[in-house]
Amino acid sequence: MEFQNTLEFARKMDGQDPLRKFRSKFYFPKRESGEPYIYLCGNSLGLQPITTEAAILQELEDWKKYGVEGHFHAKHPWMPYHEFLTQAMANIVGAKPIEVVVMNTLSVNLHLMMVSFFRPKGTRTKILIEFDAFPSDKYAVESQLKFHGLDPNEHLIQLKAREGESLIREEDIEQVIKEEGESIALIMLGNTNYYTGQFFDMQRITELGHSMGCTVGFDCAHGAGNVELNLHDAGPDFAVWCSYKYLNSGPGSLGGCFVHERHAHNKDLNRFAGWWGHNKDTRFKMRDGFDPIPGVESWQLSNPPILSMAAIKASLELFEEAGISNLRKKARSLTSFCEFVVEGICNDRIQIISPKDPDKRGSQLSIQVKDADKALFDKISEAGVIADWREPDVIRIAPTAMYNSYEDVFHFSQLLKKQLI
Ligand SMILES: *Cc1c(COP(=O)(O)O)cnc(C)c1O
Repeated sequence: MEFQNTLEFARKMDGQDPLRKFRSKFYFPKRESGEPYIYLCGNSLGLQPITTEAAILQELEDWKKYGVEGHFHAKHPWMPYHEFLTQAMANIVGAKPIEVVVMNTLSVNLHLMMVSFFRPKGTRTKILIEFDAFPSDKYAVESQLKFHGLDPNEHLIQLKAREGESLIREEDIEQVIKEEGESIALIMLGNTNYYTGQFFDMQRITELGHSMGCTVGFDCAHGAGNVELNLHDAGPDFAVWCSYKYLNSGPGSLGGCFVHERHAHNKDLNRFAGWWGHNKDTRFKMRDGFDPIPGVESWQLSNPPILSMAAIKASLELFEEAGISNLRKKARSLTSFCEFVVEGICNDRIQIISPKDPDKRGSQLSIQVKDADKALFDKISEAGVIADWREPDVIRIAPTAMYNSYEDVFHFSQLLKKQLI
């Protein structure tokens, strides 16, 4: 596709966008003047779907009306409520329903997964992670190492991009796994990376990791709802993600968790247990020993917050309607257009550090601005853009397929250009 750096062209692309109707299904924050902001921050907090409010009100209404009986008599009974989310969430991450559950939040799930899948033994004690992993993931793995009496300085291997490069080369990941695999208990990588938008070939990493005897998990916080994940086929042991970024389910909403089917019936796998993970038929007898539900549901601890799940349900309905592969198709094109117009600014202060190859990045461009400080970003914000600033010098923008337009992206590039001159 030949792009043109004009407003007319952007509008033409919007006119041909088969997903364009979804934009009007979201609330855009507005400036004092009443003009909507150009919202390019869906990788941090997705916008609110218009249907969310009614979905939450429904549960408040049913609580009013039924009290505890809402567990059985609510329009969407609370007892099995999480099950209403499973199929749609499984479609988003490319998994089977038995492999997916919505529960807790991301960092909590990451810990629960490591309780089961980080089992250091003998000389196999290490965790492999990216050097620029999201801070919470780093704290989680470091604290897990310490919990097992292991010093993170010795037992945490951090993958770094080469000197002068921003992206980790897949061949470097492979080399580390080949060289150090026998001492690695767990490979835990971000897919997609929150800082650069780069994503890795999960299947290759998983197969190599498994061939060396490591367990493999991915943090898909920036992948879910953004790129097409193929968790079942790729075959990692576990994955975790959140639902408030590309999945538009509201601040602090519940996370998703994947455990591969190969572990579904292994009752001996060590896990922290709670009543919501126990066999549904005997859960309320309250007497039996813990009998895990087959599949990832057995990692559930508590009965879940229905109000938050209602927001997830409303959002997932939009994903079901739009289709994740259609969204991905638009995201590729929209992100490439964004790259084209940003490069069209022709200013040697800016450099896009996200992968050039559209198959290696999601709906995100990380723009490094030479000699910039946050003042530049604040000016762009004042001019009407909501994006994300990462110290020391990176603007992250996420043209999300669900609600962003080609016109949004075009206007953003114009505003950025103005601030750079
Ligand atoms: C957003 C994000 C988190 C946030 O974790 P919460 O437990 O949901 O607060 C963790 N890890 C990564 C990679 C993220 O992108």
